[in-house]
Amino acid sequence: MSYRPQIVDLTTASRNEEAGLYEFTMKLKDGTLCRAFYSNKPEWHMTSISRLQKTPCPICRKDFICKCMEKFAGDIHEQIMNDQLIEQAVK
Ligand SMILES: [Zn+2]
Repeated sequence: MSYRPQIVDLTTASRNEEAGLYEFTMKLKDGTLCRAFYSNKPEWHMTSISRLQKTPCPICRKDFICKCMEKFAGDIHEQIMNDQLIEQAVK
């Protein structure tokens, strides 16, 4: 599989600081919009990710629900951590 998601923007959509739960909206370089849920207890980890159905899936080309992004959750999480995107998004 040659697809490689590249995050260009990550913003906080909602947060519950007490519970340590965050919802982020992210934009990928190819225009795909995703929603990712994170928990920061005990440390930042992704609890779920899905594609917002505004653009067709870049992987399977469907414009309805698919699970493709879940396959890239590890890759996306790594980018978020390496580029310190959460730090910037929760400011
Ligand atoms: Zn798909």
